[in-house]
Amino acid sequence: MATKVTYVCNTCGYSYTSVNEIFWLDENGKIVIKPLARATSAESYSSPLKGFFVKYYCYDCKEFISKFIISKKAREISDEYVFHLIDGYDDSLKIVQYDDAFQRCLKCGTGLPVRAEYSFSYDTDDEFHINRDFLGFSEGDSHKFAGLYYGYFCSQCKKQINKFVITENNANFDDSEIKAILEEHTNDLTIFLRRDYDICPECGEKVYYLNQNSTCPYCRRDKLYISDHIDFD
Ligand SMILES: [Zn+2]
Ligand SMILES: [Zn+2]
Ligand SMILES: [Zn+2]
Repeated sequence: MATKVTYVCNTCGYSYTSVNEIFWLDENGKIVIKPLARATSAESYSSPLKGFFVKYYCYDCKEFISKFIISKKAREISDEYVFHLIDGYDDSLKIVQYDDAFQRCLKCGTGLPVRAEYSFSYDTDDEFHINRDFLGFSEGDSHKFAGLYYGYFCSQCKKQINKFVITENNANFDDSEIKAILEEHTNDLTIFLRRDYDICPECGEKVYYLNQNSTCPYCRRDKLYISDHIDFD
């Protein structure tokens, strides 16, 4: 399901609409970006290259940055060709990141297949949620932190590994706080990766996902407020 959120600045009237989107390589060999809905999930299902698409903002360069998170890439497509395709999509600044699903066993080093892919969130009431639908979590400020969960099992070592990829950290927790919360709500080997911030490829400063309470990128004198929120499929 896609969520479309419109933010406005009450001081200067600037408005920004964010939609959770996916990208894939279509039959004509072109990159397509569309809202994440049932139809587009089906359409992209058998594509040899696909993933998530996110927009960030660099306050220093005053530009939006496109981020492509690759979740699937067929072996016959080279990394160079992936960069070439994505770079040719438009002339925005871009960040390309490979999916965090790849994992080796922490004991024996064997590459492990993913056995479970969920999303998770830790909400403002300190409740921990695992969402069975990997693509189901939506952006927003109703949680302190959120992200994707990957489960692995090494049959040689009989060890379960839980991996949490933090994609949102509204509460600005530091690593030790995140670790403590995750360990409290899971058992077995638990590891986590921070993906809640990125660096501008142009100037090297931190880039931001525009959200409720983000500084208005236009006037910079006020914050953004949610003016509209629609879920659609
Ligand atoms: Zn192992
Ligand atoms: Zn920049
Ligand atoms: Zn403004």
